[in-house]
Amino acid sequence: MSWRGLGLICLYGTGVLSISAAGATVSAGFVCLARITGMTTIEKRLWIETVGCQMNVLDSELVVAALRRDGWTMAPSRVEADAVFFNTCSVRQHAEDKIYSALGRVRTEKRDRPGMIVGVLGCMAQKDQDLVRKRAPWVDLVVGPGQLHRIGGLLDEIRAGSGPRMEVSLNRTAGSRLSVAESFESYDPDRDPQMRPTPFQALVRTQTGCDKFCAFCVVPGVRGPEQARPPEAIERECRKLVAEGCREITLIGQTVNSYRWNSGDTTVRLSDLLERLDAIDGLNRIKFVTNYPRDMTDDLIEAVRDLPKVSPYLHVPAQHGCDAVLTRMKRGYSIGLYRDMIARVRQAVPHASITSDFIVGFCGETEEEFESSVALVHEIGFRNSFIFKYSPRPGTKAFDRQVDDVPESVKRSRNNRLLEAQTQVSLAGNQSFLGRTVEILIEGLSPHEELNIESLGSAPAADTMVQLVGRTTCDRIVVVDAPWRVVGRMLLVTITEVGAWTLSGTRTALETLNDDRDSFQEGCQATGNGDVQTLHSIDLPSSLSERDETTLPLTVEG
Ligand code: SF4
Repeated sequence: MSWRGLGLICLYGTGVLSISAAGATVSAGFVCLARITGMTTIEKRLWIETVGCQMNVLDSELVVAALRRDGWTMAPSRVEADAVFFNTCSVRQHAEDKIYSALGRVRTEKRDRPGMIVGVLGCMAQKDQDLVRKRAPWVDLVVGPGQLHRIGGLLDEIRAGSGPRMEVSLNRTAGSRLSVAESFESYDPDRDPQMRPTPFQALVRTQTGCDKFCAFCVVPGVRGPEQARPPEAIERECRKLVAEGCREITLIGQTVNSYRWNSGDTTVRLSDLLERLDAIDGLNRIKFVTNYPRDMTDDLIEAVRDLPKVSPYLHVPAQHGCDAVLTRMKRGYSIGLYRDMIARVRQAVPHASITSDFIVGFCGETEEEFESSVALVHEIGFRNSFIFKYSPRPGTKAFDRQVDDVPESVKRSRNNRLLEAQTQVSLAGNQSFLGRTVEILIEGLSPHEELNIESLGSAPAADTMVQLVGRTTCDRIVVVDAPWRVVGRMLLVTITEVGAWTLSGTRTALETLNDDRDSFQEGCQATGNGDVQTLHSIDLPSSLSERDETTLPLTVEG
């Protein structure tokens, strides 16, 4: 089996992910999105780069898997590809700018190879539609996230000479909720085990779209109305993944805890779904992101408390610490409600790891209002927060009706100050880990080791000691030296060093395939508060400001 290039760039975590044809991941980011076997076909070689959240990462995985079934293989590099796709994000201007810059570079490559197909997929395709080809007329294919199932056929048509094609869903105001929802088709084709970032971890979609309409957020427009997948389909997909060797599943939805599936008199909630998945033999960990504060119901908190495989890790973005700003943001809750939610979580799951997102410099934000966010970070003791400077987005209520009046220099300064507060809180929270033994799932090489391996040009032997990275069940990143063969296994690690964003330790023992809930709990209780990062990412952030420059929220919520 060989690793071939998927060429995926992911601007989340700190990472820009790209994957070399030689097989090693070559930059910070995920372990690898594509593991592909077989010979390449010269005429149908694909390169795809992805920006954004886990939803896009999953979409890219599924698009590649579907196209492989149509005979496409991965190109060793972008310049050798017959089709180059960009799976895009519109949550921040910065993400869009990067894609238009990349399209500019591809234009030159296309001049040399006119048969090459250039595609823009995802949120920017849905948001900009015709504008994509106005700005980059050399683009052949524009496909929104609700039309990804059409890509194979569209590629065939373009190759047969149809000319450029665009398939997007209805705009939110273009028809009834039902008709708009029907135009956003959830894209959940059969998984290809070889296409997952790692064989032992997987993202599974619970729902698409969002109906919350926060004033700053473009997601309800570009991802459409909220639509749950049937629980049976989700469970079936998870069982198949586990049968293929998957040990950790992360359920993803823009507001995953809003999940509701109504059938007759019965409503299936996220807590019910978790109970079903918890019963799957062979599955070790279940995570779910991102949570909407108002939908953090008691039944869900109890599920986190009672179900042994559900990680006590809750990413619940507060976005701001001041009621007046939350009102302007149209977030639909007050700080009082948020505090009450946290209190309920802490009471039921004292060791829960709680993380947040914050926006600084939102329309009209005063110094005093900003200080409320700083105070909230200290008060709640978040394990981690992802901090973003407000970026006005066309098509949102804030863009249409509010004034982006906080100067960029002030946004930057507030970003740094909030980051400083979070760094202090995170470091303090990690101190209690020193000397503790925690169980981690090893995800892959550390970025430092990746560079070493890349320079060697081949994967290490199974027993070679390398620097690896894994995560606790509450999602803290842990660095440890261990043999390469333990990637994908559980290790017991004694923590010897702590930083604000990562822990380091020494290996205590190699776990068996069976999970040990007690050690999970012990590891998390050691924290005393929340922790962590998400699945798949093995980057070691030196600071969150680095994230701010390069990333979207860790989780799906905008
Ligand atoms: S911020 Fe989250 S909850 Fe609000 S509209 Fe965007 S995706 Fe929905």
